[in-house]
Amino acid sequence: MSPGRFREPTARDRKTGNLVVAGFLVGVTATSGLVFLLDQPDGLLAWLGIVTVSTVLLAWWNATHSGYRCPHCGHEFSISTLIELVSPHGSGSGGWKYVRCPRCDRKSRSRVLVREERTGR
Ligand SMILES: [Zn+2]
Repeated sequence: MSPGRFREPTARDRKTGNLVVAGFLVGVTATSGLVFLLDQPDGLLAWLGIVTVSTVLLAWWNATHSGYRCPHCGHEFSISTLIELVSPHGSGSGGWKYVRCPRCDRKSRSRVLVREERTGR
């Protein structure tokens, strides 16, 4: 455990997160026009491809910018893009994600934290 790697999310962090999700939704909606512009089933397949890639990118962005704190042992950790994709999450009490703690191996609603930017200090 290395203290200082993660911090509590601020209002600004939540705003950035909301903007990323909003941009994702706008992009998915805008590109859905492809389904009608191209011949079928190419248009539909192209759009599904875009949606899949964007979803993975969104999960990757979340995984690289977030950390989680175990409510049982207090361990702070990050998760992989794959786990980010498949884990249930919610926005109650500042944000939580149902993940397994790598230290005590217990699954629980872990508090969402923000990963500190690497400043080279
Ligand atoms: Zn734990």
